[in-house]
Amino acid sequence: MEYSEREATTRHEALLLLVKELVTPQQFQTWFNAVVVETPASGEVRLLAPNPFVRDWISHYYSNVLAEAVRNCFGEDRAITVSVNPALPQVAAIDAPPVREDLVPPTTTAVVPVELPTISDTFLHSDYTFDNFIVGRSNHFAHAAAIAVAEARGQRYNPFFLHGSVGLGKTHLLQAICHEILRRDPRAKITYLSCEAFTNHFIQAVEEGDLTTFRHKYRNVDVLLVDDIQTLRNKDRTQEEFFHTFNTLYNLGRQIVLTSDAPPKEIPDLQERLVSRFQMGLVVELSRPEFETRVAILKRKARMRGKELPDDVALQLADRIETNIRELEGAVVRLLSYASLVDKPITLALAEEALRETGSTRTSAITISDIIDVVAAYYGVKVSDLQGKRRSQSIVFPRQVCMYLARSITKMSLNDIGGYFGGRDHTTVLYAIDKIGREAKNDDETGDVLRRLTRTINGR
Ligand code: ADP
Ligand code: MG
Repeated sequence: MEYSEREATTRHEALLLLVKELVTPQQFQTWFNAVVVETPASGEVRLLAPNPFVRDWISHYYSNVLAEAVRNCFGEDRAITVSVNPALPQVAAIDAPPVREDLVPPTTTAVVPVELPTISDTFLHSDYTFDNFIVGRSNHFAHAAAIAVAEARGQRYNPFFLHGSVGLGKTHLLQAICHEILRRDPRAKITYLSCEAFTNHFIQAVEEGDLTTFRHKYRNVDVLLVDDIQTLRNKDRTQEEFFHTFNTLYNLGRQIVLTSDAPPKEIPDLQERLVSRFQMGLVVELSRPEFETRVAILKRKARMRGKELPDDVALQLADRIETNIRELEGAVVRLLSYASLVDKPITLALAEEALRETGSTRTSAITISDIIDVVAAYYGVKVSDLQGKRRSQSIVFPRQVCMYLARSITKMSLNDIGGYFGGRDHTTVLYAIDKIGREAKNDDETGDVLRRLTRTINGR
């Protein structure tokens, strides 16, 4: 049967409305919101998804839903196809043949036998896993996509480009992908690093005239994950080098994962050919968490530190801090340490007091929780242990390192610092700072570790 254009449009809307009735609002929002329906003369029903990930997901999980909606809409069964919307920009690139002239790197790297560490240049934070990532409407899609990338690396969503503003979980998801890949294949060669580290390493290699080792290192991995790729802006030679690194890995079918504070097109001073490469796979945005997700995150962050946050307190904090999950977490940390410092139960009134006492939330300055997070990850201990009462040497030393770094990096008083570590008093903190300071002077290794930790903390 032929429809007029107007009739067809109404049918298409009706079909989507029928789908909407069969799934939850969240599912609809995530998977069907950007889907376009077409009914060509051939009689089939064609769904156009915004990207290959949505296409695969819908075909895989929603075929029954679609069949039912189509039956209700057209009064008969019809063939249903799901494809990627050709009107959207990323499609042209992804359908292009995988190997093209301009994708071949200009230099062939000699094969140098180098021992490759599994994870180089930086370390993974043990809390940044998929399990610890709270999922809500704002990040459901990014979370699902990250899992899909970890499960089928190098195959479908390459590169995976995750963007969003500061403190929304990009680094968390990036590291969760690393954890998951390593869990599935402990021998996977993963290089995960910040774009700054890549840049520094490149500059060093140029200065030392040793690009061969550099290229070997970055072009021989199974997975390359680069955090904060927007810092490539303005760095022409590094962009050039990254372009070739990218192409080599891409052509070998290796997974590339990138994060940025903006989508590829909006990164200023990024070469056009990089913009188009970055858009070839799956580009996903992490948006600001909605209220319910913020509440859930607050409660989880408190629980990870061994405390329950009462509902009214969680609601109040979630109401007040809207834009940034790192700030939410900072507020929890401040509140818990304040409560332990003054030794009072966590109530609304205490929360008011704690947040007033310790100043309003800051976005850019480094907080003690940044320091604790990095130290915990480095020593492989739990944040809650660092902040708790245990006295075993494996905890005491990292805890003292935290205190030392807190004093040297932040402007906190000794008492405030003690408050973050189970309400210890200023003499304990002073002792720790003294001891670590002395060790750093007498022992090169400790000095190195402190410098490395400081760099990582500053680079977060
Ligand atoms: P970004 O890299 O985007 O600036 P991060 O990944 O560093 O942000 O996240 C900031 C903090 O917020 C981290 O401690 C992270 O664990 C936490 N966080 C972000 N999103 C979530 C989430 N959905 N669930 C739990 N914690 C989250
Ligand atoms: Mg980050």
